[in-house]
This record gives sequence, structure tokens and C-alpha cells, in this order.
Amino acid sequence: GGADLECDVVVLGGGPGGYSAAFRAADLGLKVVLVERYATLGGVCLNVGCIPSKALLHVAAVMDEVSHMADLGVDFGAPTVNVDKLRGHKEKVIAKLTGGLNAMAKMRKVTVVRGYGTFLDPQHLQVEETTGTAQEKTGASKTVRFKKAIIAAGSAAVRLPFLPNDDRIVDSTGALALAGTPKKMLIIGGGIIGLEMGTVYSTLGARLDVVEMLDGLMQGADRDLVKVWQKMNAHRFDNIMLKTKTVGAEATPQGIKVQFETLEGVKSEGLYDLVLQAVGRTPNGKKIAADKAGVAVTDRGFINVDVQMRTNVPNIFAIGDIVGQPMLAHKAVHEAHVAAEVAAGELLGDAKLAKAQFDARVIPSVAYTDPEVAWVGLTEDQAKAQGIKVKKGLFPWTASGRAIANGRDEGYTKLLFDDSPEAHGHGKILGGGIVGTHAGDMIGEIALAIEMGADAVDIGKTIHPHPTLGESIGMAAEIAHGSCTDVP
Ligand code: FAD
Repeated sequence: GGADLECDVVVLGGGPGGYSAAFRAADLGLKVVLVERYATLGGVCLNVGCIPSKALLHVAAVMDEVSHMADLGVDFGAPTVNVDKLRGHKEKVIAKLTGGLNAMAKMRKVTVVRGYGTFLDPQHLQVEETTGTAQEKTGASKTVRFKKAIIAAGSAAVRLPFLPNDDRIVDSTGALALAGTPKKMLIIGGGIIGLEMGTVYSTLGARLDVVEMLDGLMQGADRDLVKVWQKMNAHRFDNIMLKTKTVGAEATPQGIKVQFETLEGVKSEGLYDLVLQAVGRTPNGKKIAADKAGVAVTDRGFINVDVQMRTNVPNIFAIGDIVGQPMLAHKAVHEAHVAAEVAAGELLGDAKLAKAQFDARVIPSVAYTDPEVAWVGLTEDQAKAQGIKVKKGLFPWTASGRAIANGRDEGYTKLLFDDSPEAHGHGKILGGGIVGTHAGDMIGEIALAIEMGADAVDIGKTIHPHPTLGESIGMAAEIAHGSCTDVP
């Protein structure tokens, strides 16, 4: 009693996790309230993440491609860039997708409540109404009474505390706003997000420096894959500072003066028009009064869940970035479906649905740089570190008719198969990596092969269309199996 809204399931947060959970729960017949503080659904991914970055990366990739065309006999000349129009393109892409989500919510009769949600107890959420493009509170609030809750409140960019407040120092959201085209840009943090944004700005004319505490860029991917990307992208960078910390910065009229220090204590300094902080993301777990519902939150702000995405409180689930790494949209979506199905199963007395579990063997990663770097499952570096015996099938794209025709044969496709004695030479695929154009579009096949428990013969004997880049997966399997007799 006393609640303004009653529902079966309340979903807190309208990102890929939240809207996927809300839609699945509604499709299964539940009454669903979806709470989002911003004016649009889609969360980080649609509004300030995956989608806008890819809208800009697509344009950058076309520009880079066109610049190579002169060697092939067609010269388009130097490009002129209208930044306002480019920003407009990105905004249109976002609007189309977030508008689509609104329509889908309506179609499913999901009640979307705009406002900032915090728990009152294990059955009630308070929503303080927000307005405008940001999240100013209007003072009005609503109480939602729920049977089940799914927390999908996501994450926020980490801010280095010692950096001054200045328009020229941005996080990924600020970089995606594309306020202008700097001449000299610093990327703090050499992970996927930093390198993707660096690619865009560099193609638009910026010279790049990157500073990374670890001993290599794009951590997580095998070093041999990254090497190919790095060679192709060396021209963008003035300075790649590895094993180096950013220790201070000051805003001056000439630019942002940044101080660095290597792990050995060697100091240096640089002057930049734009500084992008891309040093990771922190979960929003501490900002939702989870304790009032009894939901445990870790020191770092994560919410621990079991394989059914259930928190320590039986009627409350959590999904997406807020439950841990990897912070990726496709992981959030799959976790969302599990949480919604378990909640629906329990509320509707459907024993099969109630048993749903998150049991993905692998979650693919993609850097949408040029070339793209994609990997899934066990990496070669992990296999080495963990002493796992693998048989490797490596297919260089210098032998791919399609890659050569495209003028882009720098890539390769690598598959790793179980080579333990128990596998008797017919080991299943454990992982794979691709560096090259469209690597991200191809990695799903390797993920499927891993999920299906395929071996090298299964993959090698699957007929791939010729001439395609995807063919390289079949060829890599044949090489691993030792049955590769010719190359396309
Ligand atoms: P989020 O998308 O963070 O959504 C959470 C939502 O909850 C937000 O809309 C927020 O406003 C809302 N919210 C939070 N607290 C409250 C509250 N108390 N009340 C009301 N609403 C609240 N992932 C990929 O898979 N591929 C990519 O290419 C990719 N590119 C990226 C590029 C960038 C620049 C960034 C920053 C991220 C990228 N990611 C990418 C990561 C991806 O965006 C996230 O993994 C994904 O958005 C997580 O989804 P989520 O639903 O858990 O949370």
C-alpha cells in the first residue's frame, strides 16, 4: 500500500541491460516499470558509448580508406571535414535508435518512469523525477512497489582526482561530443575506448600521445594481434608512453600541461589541446541506496550475483556493468534475459523459466580500431601463462584473395585448439583472435564454434564462401589440423 505504482518487476536503469530485461519480462507477461534518469533509453551504450563511437569510427575508416585509394589509381583529393555535420550524423544515429527503444517499450506496455531511483526497502523504490537533457531533479517523486527488482544502473567513467576542471580535459562522453578538432591530443589509458577515440581524432587531424601504466596497449588481446594494429597505426602517434603514470596536470592558456613519470622514476612533460581520460569505468552500485534493500555492494561499488543474476536478496537481481567485468553491452543483454526469465519463472510458477542461468562459455571482445582487433575465449598469452597445451592454426591474410583484393592483407586469423593428451589430437576449439578489417564481424563464428564444442575438422570442413575474409577461419582450422593443402 501507499505506492504510486505497483508492478511485478521494476528495472533500475535503461541501458542495454535494463531495457533488455524490461522487454523480456514484459514479453513473458509481467507488469514492468523501467526507471531511467535520462530523457532517452539506451544507457551509456546508445547515448555515449558503443553506438556514437561507431558512427564516428565508420566515418574515420572511410576517410582512411579513401586516402589509400590514390595508390590504387583513384585520387579523391584531401577531404574537407564539416564537424557540425559530422556531429549531426552521430546525433541522428542515436536519435533513431533511442526512438526505436521508446516505441518498443510502448508496444510492450512497459511503463517508463523518468527519474532517479533509490531503494527504500526490498519491495519499494523511490523515483525522484528528473527533467531536461541532464538529470536536474524537479522535486516531485513517486514510489514504486515491486515484487522483483532488476538493478541495471551501469557504470561511469573513472576521473583522475588530480586533473583540473577544464573543458580541454574530457572523458569518453566529452570526446564523443566532438566539440572541435584539436591539433595535439593526449590519451590517458591505452585501452579499447581510448584507442577508438584516438583513431577518430587522429583521422580528423590530431597528433596523438598515449600514456599507459602497463607494458602494452590494448590489454587483454594477444600481443601478436596488437602488434599488427600498432604497426598500421604508428603514424598517428608522436609518443607512446608505456609503464608510465600521469602524475599531474595544469591548465594554461597555451594548453593542458601534463606531467608523467615512468615506473623507474623518469619524469617528463607534454602540452595538449585535448586530454582524454580513459582509465576505466566504475560501477554505480554505491549510488542507489542498495543497503536499504539489504543488497550487498562491494568496496568498489560492484554488486555480486550468482549464475541466475540474483543478489544476496532473493527478489532482487543485478545485471550489466554493475555486476563486474567485462563491461560490455552484449554481456549485459544476455544477463538481462536470464534475470528476467528467472523473475518471470518464479512469479508465474514456470519451473523451466525459473531455472534459467547465465552459462555463456565465452564473451567476445572487439576493438573497433583500424584494423579491428577481436578475440574470444582463451588467448595464446593466457594459454602460455596457465600452462595449457594448445595447437595453433594461424592463417595470414597475405594468402587471402579477398584481403589482397581489398588492399588490406596485414591481418591474420588465429585459432587455438585443446592439445592436451586427453584430446587425442582432436581437441576442441578453446579460443581465437583476428586482427584485420571486419574482425569484429567475424569473431561471432569463433564464439559459436566454442559454444558448440567444435574441433578443427568441424570448422575446417565447414564450407566458407570464397572469396571472403571469413574464409580465413576455415583455413586457420585446416592449418591447425594439418590438412591445409592450398590457399585461396
Ligand atoms: P549502462 O549502459 O551504463 O546503463 C545504465 C543506465 O542506468 C544509464 O542510462 C543510467 O542513466 C541509468 N541509471 C543509473 N543509475 C540510475 C538511478 N539511480 N536511477 C535511474 N537511472 C539510473 N560495449 C560494447 O559491448 N561494445 C562497444 O563497442 C562499446 N563501446 C563503448 C564505448 C564507450 C565510449 C563506452 C563508454 C562504453 C562502451 N561499451 C561498449 C560499454 C557499454 O557501453 C556498456 O557495457 C553497457 O552500456 C552496459 O550496459 P548497462 O545496461 O549495464 O549500463
